Amino acid sequence: MKAKGLTRRWFLAAVATAPLLWYFAKAFAAALDPTPACANGVETPEQTPGPFFKPRSPERRSLREAGVQGTPIVLEGIVRSTRCQPVAGALVDFWQADASGHYDNEGYRLRGHQFTDADGKYRLETIVPGLYPGRTRHFHVRVQAPHRSLLTTQLYFPGEPENRRDGIFNPKLLLDLSEAGGRTGRFDFVVDA
Ligand code: FE
Repeated sequence: MKAKGLTRRWFLAAVATAPLLWYFAKAFAAALDPTPACANGVETPEQTPGPFFKPRSPERRSLREAGVQGTPIVLEGIVRSTRCQPVAGALVDFWQADASGHYDNEGYRLRGHQFTDADGKYRLETIVPGLYPGRTRHFHVRVQAPHRSLLTTQLYFPGEPENRRDGIFNPKLLLDLSEAGGRTGRFDFVVDA
């Protein structure tokens, strides 16, 4: 009788805990995978371009030109189609604030575009953008597969305190940051292609 009661109690405890365990397992998986995998045809979320986009940025893979100071960072990743295929020749156009939170609206400092290679890869050498009032730390980017629609979005830094207060921030757009061999932020885009 005693043993039976104990089993029943264990069973009820297990039933009560299962949803909680499932929740934590999901949260843990999400924490491990800040860049959502290409699945279910889901495109990278769109975001506002903000007021500082300028067309005709120079084609280049490094924005670290003379006079640009700040913490170096490399952004890299793959542009994929909604069917998860790498997209070669996709436009990837970045613009960002300098280390003190200012955009260059006269020239093209910290602005540049490139095209993905045969494996759909992009790589940009730049600096960590500074904060400016009302926004958390972010990069602006436009991505476009050849002859397809344009995706405008932004990329964010994990662990940034201002993420919680920024109404535009989207956790699906967090960079996968690594410090091994220099600071690197990874993000794979999924676009109409
Ligand atoms: Fe901005």
